[in-house]
Amino acid sequence: MTTIPRQMQRSGAQRRARESTAARITGSSRAVSSLYIHVPFCVKKCNYCDFFSVPFDESTAFAYTDALCRELKMKAHLAGSIETVYIGGGTPSLLPHACLSRLFRTLQRSYTLSETAEVTIETNPGTISGATIDLLLSRGVNRISVGVQSFDDAELRLLGRIHTADDATRTLSFLRKSGFNTISLDLMFGIPGQTLDSWRTSLARCLECAPTHLSCYELTLEEGTPFWNSVQKPPEDAIVDMYVHACDFCEHYGYGQYEISNFALSGHRCVHNLNYWRRGEYIGAGAGAHSFVGDTRSRNVRDIRSYIRHLAEGVAPEVDSAMLSPVESAREFLFLGLRTTDGIRIRDADALGLDLLRAAEELREGGFLEMRGTVLRMTRRGFAVSTAVLVHLLQNLGL
Ligand code: SF4
Repeated sequence: MTTIPRQMQRSGAQRRARESTAARITGSSRAVSSLYIHVPFCVKKCNYCDFFSVPFDESTAFAYTDALCRELKMKAHLAGSIETVYIGGGTPSLLPHACLSRLFRTLQRSYTLSETAEVTIETNPGTISGATIDLLLSRGVNRISVGVQSFDDAELRLLGRIHTADDATRTLSFLRKSGFNTISLDLMFGIPGQTLDSWRTSLARCLECAPTHLSCYELTLEEGTPFWNSVQKPPEDAIVDMYVHACDFCEHYGYGQYEISNFALSGHRCVHNLNYWRRGEYIGAGAGAHSFVGDTRSRNVRDIRSYIRHLAEGVAPEVDSAMLSPVESAREFLFLGLRTTDGIRIRDADALGLDLLRAAEELREGGFLEMRGTVLRMTRRGFAVSTAVLVHLLQNLGL
């Protein structure tokens, strides 16, 4: 489901790359170690979703897989030893077995996967069979991310999800028994009609499923979705209470926070997403996928027919491509670095010519930012209102 990764889109922090003429993939070789693969098929569109996804159709899935494999081969020269692969969507577990097998064959033949590579796939409750799980495990997938969103059936119906809370519990128990050691679960707060009590219940029920990783995102009302202008989220202070409760809950049960919205048991942080937040390079493949290679962010065409046509003609499917200016790089360095609990090293900011200590003074006094040794990071209070904190900090820096 993401990149510039979905995580950044969710926060509203994504900046759009400038339109440019269709870009060709650079001929130079690099050693990128992260790979994102977008599979844009879903059973049905959810009411809040603005990710690039379309209803599943078998013949399109086969044609799409063919194009995807062509693009993966085309970009293989950019890769070094691959440490992380993230297959997102959409609901990639909907792909027919022949398509999944072909995709993994292409990965094995065209890329060198490190022995310890983290290989993640996204799925949704009720959309994955035992046979698919066996296939994924046999191809080296070792991490699965499940879009549960809520354990309240009324909230799930409002969101337009196709599953119930019990479906989610069954899927998660099935995944655990099948041998997945790393299971991540997505939950959402700020849903219209949601209360602190129903949020508490969702978190408590999620614990019964024993995930190793939790992502708790605030719902964003996106233009162009059925939710836009038609529903109202709970009041801002209620949403802050939900966020703070999620942080307390996770801390209590041993899920360490490592990013605004992400919590993990020891040893289960998502290495792929950490690479995004550390501004590491990544190759994106698939319709609508983003890449970051060198100083250039680029995006593939967000239309399946056009994507398939580009690849059939041997043309790179990138439509937006922009080399970041020093100011843009500095902004990214700040808004990505401050998302993580690792924060930002002052000497890295100095190297970019940013007087971060001075700019952060007021926010530190207000309890939104703090110094830990030589690192500046957000406090929990800061995380709860992170967008406002970042805007303020960028203003102080004149960025
Ligand atoms: S399942 Fe995920 S990607 Fe698909 S429509 Fe729903 S939110 Fe969007």
